[in-house]
Amino acid sequence: MSDKTTIYDELGVPRVINAAGTKTRIGGSLIRPEAIEAMSQAAESFVRLSDLQVRASELISEVTGAEAGYVGSGAAACMTLAAAAAIAGDDLGVMSRLPDTDGIPDEIVMPRTHRNGYDHAFRAAGAHMVDVGNNDNYLGTGSNSTEPWEIADAITENTVAVGYMQKVYSTPLLEEVVEIAHEQGVPVIVDAAAEVPPRENLSTFIDLGADMVIFSGGKAIRGPQTTGILAGKREYIRSAALQHLDMHVAESVWEPPTELINKADLNGVPRQGIGRPLKVGKEELVGLIAALNSFVEEDQETLNKEWESRLDIVDTELANLVGVTTQREPGGKVMVAPETYVEIDPETAKVDAVELVGSLRTETPRIFVGSDDLLEDGFTINPMCLTDEEAEYVTKRIRSYLE
Ligand SMILES: *Cc1c(COP(=O)(O)O)cnc(C)c1O
Repeated sequence: MSDKTTIYDELGVPRVINAAGTKTRIGGSLIRPEAIEAMSQAAESFVRLSDLQVRASELISEVTGAEAGYVGSGAAACMTLAAAAAIAGDDLGVMSRLPDTDGIPDEIVMPRTHRNGYDHAFRAAGAHMVDVGNNDNYLGTGSNSTEPWEIADAITENTVAVGYMQKVYSTPLLEEVVEIAHEQGVPVIVDAAAEVPPRENLSTFIDLGADMVIFSGGKAIRGPQTTGILAGKREYIRSAALQHLDMHVAESVWEPPTELINKADLNGVPRQGIGRPLKVGKEELVGLIAALNSFVEEDQETLNKEWESRLDIVDTELANLVGVTTQREPGGKVMVAPETYVEIDPETAKVDAVELVGSLRTETPRIFVGSDDLLEDGFTINPMCLTDEEAEYVTKRIRSYLE
């Protein structure tokens, strides 16, 4: 592993070797060098942010097939913007009241099995979640967690959208949910924050009829951590823009770009909206544009091979340790990249998985491995955010606790 001094060493803050994948709390992903270069150039002069959002919108539209697009300060931020757009539309009065929704429709219907911590971002706009269905798939009886009719039944005059968290295992299928929602004139918002690669997924959910689709700019796209992409119908992107852009403007000379906002359709100038705390700067916008351009050009096959061969290093280093078994989990399913699943037998190994994973985190540098499976005495090594050298270092450190 390279001994190069990092900015974190200079600051006296322990640096992290990331074997856990793209996790926000340990820095997400490494931003692409071409995005950094674009950002530093962006920092040298001024630009009207709405003009830059139009350029981003054109690119997002091109790569997703959506009518328009917008950049917020993360996928979670874009979820708040999407909910705000679904609630307010072009109504300036509602825009200025949010998150107060007294007396106005504000419900987002979501299958209960799709609910997750990130939907707080919908509620932040003032939305109230109405969840339907239950957890029946786990009974193993063959019955479904959510039946399509339950979504149809929950849609009322108070519904502003149907929320959908996209994972390969999400049910009911998106196309069914879209059909039900559209029958009742309600848009579908898809949280697809971590669903690329595959690159094709940029357009998959729009193709299936979703009205708004959200991706994180800081995961595999490797743009700035503080970016997210909202792709969707022009009417919602317009509403999101109006509630996000800085609105301290003089109406007499306000000429917003017509690609995003048609001033003639509005009763006046909205005030600073619910999205204003989610601002992105010119540097992030330019960085996201550069990263997205690179992401769609990237050769996914080459990257997959690189990930697999990095895990070969891991598997070789961890072979023949008492109480340790490893297994390769294929990528492209729940996780975008393949992973090595390491199981520690607490009876025969020198330490158990919890002690091992906990100790690795207290080292200098800190080592983070995937900790979702600690209850089953397992942890994972994800190759996405490692170099080969770091992969070797991580496994060497793991061995030191087990030999
Ligand atoms: C990561 C993630 C988010 C949040 O993305 P940010 O860009 O960090 O805001 C939202 N939803 C899901 C399902 C995610 O995996």
